Amino acid sequence: MADCKQCGTAFEVTDDDLKFYDKVSPIFNGKKYQIPPPTYCSECRQKRRMAWRGKDYFFRPCSKTGKQCISIYPPDEEMVAYSADAFYASDWTGLEFGRDFDFNRPFFEQFFEFWYSTPKQIANAYNNENCDYIINAHRNKSCYLVDEIDVSRDCYYGYNIQHCESVIKGFYARKSQFCYEVSQVDNCYEVFFGHNIYHSSNCAFVRNCRNCNHCLFCTNLREADYHIFNKRVSKEEFEKAWTHVFSGSDEILEECKAKYAEFLKSHPVPAVIQINTEDCTGDQIADSR
Ligand SMILES: [Zn+2]
Repeated sequence: MADCKQCGTAFEVTDDDLKFYDKVSPIFNGKKYQIPPPTYCSECRQKRRMAWRGKDYFFRPCSKTGKQCISIYPPDEEMVAYSADAFYASDWTGLEFGRDFDFNRPFFEQFFEFWYSTPKQIANAYNNENCDYIINAHRNKSCYLVDEIDVSRDCYYGYNIQHCESVIKGFYARKSQFCYEVSQVDNCYEVFFGHNIYHSSNCAFVRNCRNCNHCLFCTNLREADYHIFNKRVSKEEFEKAWTHVFSGSDEILEECKAKYAEFLKSHPVPAVIQINTEDCTGDQIADSR
């Protein structure tokens, strides 16, 4: 057992770990450069791996134009970061930032200085239209405050949205339209307050449903149509309930949330989510083997 240099937690380095580090240690010019065993626990190592990428929204000026932009880099970091327009302009090539390598100094020290002083994309966002406030984003139109979004339009306040339209407060949404407060949705249309929903439409307050339409306060259903609290209802009953829920009253909506949370307490959740997988271990895996 070793104590983590960062947090002090005891952690184990197994013989297999040591064998692995030995196996992946690189050899240059016949000399092996041994990778040392870790000094941080696995959680701290994970944090360090994740720390390189900004996941917050900041304001800072473009280092080339001075224009204030939303950025993944904090304003007090004196690094060089360009707005998307400045970054992709043809008035620089990157070669002007070239420098000699000093063989008498450590590589990473020099690499850091180099990285710090060469232009980076200020928000990692490019090819977006009417989207000044999104980060890690490409080919979107009219989106606002979303991190990790591609090929989408009219999406607001979300994280990890791909190929979506009008998804508001979405978290991991794929190929979905007109959804509100959803997480883990794929191929959904008009789904509200849903989690882990695939190929479904006109559903609200739903969890772990597939190929469902017109479901309200339901969970763990497959190929269901016109259900409330997991029971089949007539089209008229459903429409009456739906109209009541979405009458525009915040109070009713809050009541519904509480009622649904209570209902969920007596229903199981899947241990892992796997869709169309073969011989896979782990959570949130689709179309894989
Ligand atoms: Zn630690």
